[in-house]
Amino acid sequence: MMLKIYLLIIKKNENTEELILIKKESIEKEKRYMLTIDGSNDALWEWDLENNNVFVSEKWTSITGYIINKDMDFIGFIKGLIHEDDISNVCNNFNNYNDGKVTCYQTEFRIRTKNDNYKWLFVRAKGLQNEENKIIRLAGSITDITYRKEIEEEIKHKAYYDALTNLPNKILVMDIITNRIKEFKHNKKQGAIIFLDLDDFKKINDTSGHHYGDQLLKIIAEILKISFDEKDTVGRFGGDEFLIIMNDIKSKEDVILKCDILIDMFKKTFEIGERNVHTSASMGITIFPRDSDDINKLLINADAAMYKAKDNGKNKYCFFDEKISNELKRKSEIEKNLRQAINEHELEIYYQPQVDSNKKTIVGVEALLRWNSKESGSVSPYEFIPIAEETGLINNIGEWVIKNVCKQIKLWELNCKILMKVSINVSTVQLQDERFVEKIKQIVSLNDVDSRLIEFEITETSLMNNIDKGIDILNELKSSGFSIALDDFGTGYSSLKYLKTLPIDNLKIDKSFVDNITINKKDEEMAKGIIQLAHNMNLNVIVEGVETKEQYDLMKNMKSDIIQGYYFSRPVPPKEIEKMILIENKFI
Ligand code: C2E
Ligand code: CA
Ligand code: CA
Repeated sequence: MMLKIYLLIIKKNENTEELILIKKESIEKEKRYMLTIDGSNDALWEWDLENNNVFVSEKWTSITGYIINKDMDFIGFIKGLIHEDDISNVCNNFNNYNDGKVTCYQTEFRIRTKNDNYKWLFVRAKGLQNEENKIIRLAGSITDITYRKEIEEEIKHKAYYDALTNLPNKILVMDIITNRIKEFKHNKKQGAIIFLDLDDFKKINDTSGHHYGDQLLKIIAEILKISFDEKDTVGRFGGDEFLIIMNDIKSKEDVILKCDILIDMFKKTFEIGERNVHTSASMGITIFPRDSDDINKLLINADAAMYKAKDNGKNKYCFFDEKISNELKRKSEIEKNLRQAINEHELEIYYQPQVDSNKKTIVGVEALLRWNSKESGSVSPYEFIPIAEETGLINNIGEWVIKNVCKQIKLWELNCKILMKVSINVSTVQLQDERFVEKIKQIVSLNDVDSRLIEFEITETSLMNNIDKGIDILNELKSSGFSIALDDFGTGYSSLKYLKTLPIDNLKIDKSFVDNITINKKDEEMAKGIIQLAHNMNLNVIVEGVETKEQYDLMKNMKSDIIQGYYFSRPVPPKEIEKMILIENKFI
């Protein structure tokens, strides 16, 4: 190209000496130019669009393996080699340049090389226009970007695929769902999202180690992949959660068919190394866009349905339906209103007497939350406490309870001369707060309350999450003067082994136990045994949920120390407690 320019100058010049000089200079320049071309990592090219003549430097051959023949239709030849998925991109980029939307022609595409594999090329060029603004000449470079693309692919893979199972990760799965929602809405098709959560996987991890757990996850990933069709997507959502997108389903039956197969498979054991392990899965299913066209709502639906499946006894599947939908609405309404409950002064604490079983006098009270919501009416703690735990609101609420109990203890002490012992319920979530004990001590000392007047009720289940840490917290509380009761005994693990290791003062036998005692002789014997055992360990026994005289007599005869229940009193406002104690502290 440059050579041509110099020849042009030569023609114009009449002086021969000058001509030789220029010729020499031009040859030098051409040599340098060719050196640049040869030395460049890129292939250089020029396309004369008017004659369809193409010049490409030799580097082209080393990139692609093809030798250029002067007479061949190079552009036509190259078009036949471009990957079909990239052709439209190449053309669009050219049109954009031709239309003046961009200042330089740039495009990336794959080309089939002589060796029959694909290489990625980056082409860059600028053009020369004629008077009618039509491009008549294009010139630029061709770079082999295969290596860069491979690295990019690897980075992309890492960002979108789970390293352990090689399944699409949460980001990619969410992306796919978003696209499918749009597509199916438009095409009037249906898809299903299956939210699959392994049952008791934590136990396997805890007992056999993380490496073993990882092996199991890999096996499950493989099984899921082969259980679904090519058109479906199986992804890992995190931990032991998988998400399956079934595309273009005709009816619910398509999904049921697959889920039944999975349920059957999870009945068998999996072989890992020398050992066999058993796990099962609970699945929640939502159909889209029927149930919703909002990805977040769909995931909430599937998650709620999955929890229903777990509640129904695990290794089951459950479709999202109107009932679950209403439960979700109620839950989100409660969550919304609960956030304002403290500020709106909607919370109250009632107190239920704990009665000495022989003397029938009040020896303490249990603080029980009451919530009278302006929006939702009176809501049972059985309903709002789990929601408060799930959302973390229990931390604030729990602190509010401790503060208010302290104030009440002080009021009783100062105004009524009553030293009342109060039991406060503590949730698992509160125990996970690193500063839990510190906060309690601060509140109690700020209110100048004797810590011996406060007992904390903790359930066995909440301690089981991290038994060592749980024991540390209990010891800390005890060394500060507080006492501890193990709540709901008889509903959870009811492990007698743990009972020995826990630093507790009182054992609260759950109402469900009491309910059975009067009808079941075996349960009666068991209760007797537990009470004896507790006494041997120097623990007091509190029986809760005693509603009838018959139950009271039975429990008294079994030597339980303290009785709590409707038989004596329901939980009542503090004024009522005052009356009970001040008038005559004795139940008949
Ligand atoms: P819980 O700690 O097992 O409390 C005993 C529950 O049994 C209370 O229900 C009480 O009103 C009820 N109860 C007592 N005696 C009888 C009886 O004779 N018959 C019947 N049918 N029920 C009886 P409540 O007040 O509805 O509280 C339910 C649960 O909510 C509590 O169970 C506790 O787990 C939780 N809770 C209540 N207040 C708090 C709190 O301040 N913090 C935390 N974390 N949880 C609380
Ligand atoms: Ca309790
Ligand atoms: Ca209880």
